[in-house]
Amino acid sequence: MNDAKSNSYACPRCTVGRCAPRKTTFAEVYHGHLLSVPNVSAFVCDVCHFAEFEQETLEALWQDLYGDGPQDDFQSVAGQKRGSTYGEGSN
Ligand SMILES: [Zn+2]
Repeated sequence: MNDAKSNSYACPRCTVGRCAPRKTTFAEVYHGHLLSVPNVSAFVCDVCHFAEFEQETLEALWQDLYGDGPQDDFQSVAGQKRGSTYGEGSN
């Protein structure tokens, strides 16, 4: 079992297929935003087409799309939800 050369691994979802690096479209909610980005590097299963994106890839994507300010934006949206837990005990 030494197939490091092939750079693929058993699919964690179906456990039958192999996940291998290829380009696919990323379409998922990330940091609370729906992202849809074509030609993203991922490991894609050849059986169930499960796609696993590396965290580094997603962070780079995020930087491309939103530059420096995504965290602030994200937090302000979350804060509007219901401020009670945030507001308590801070004075
Ligand atoms: Zn699979």
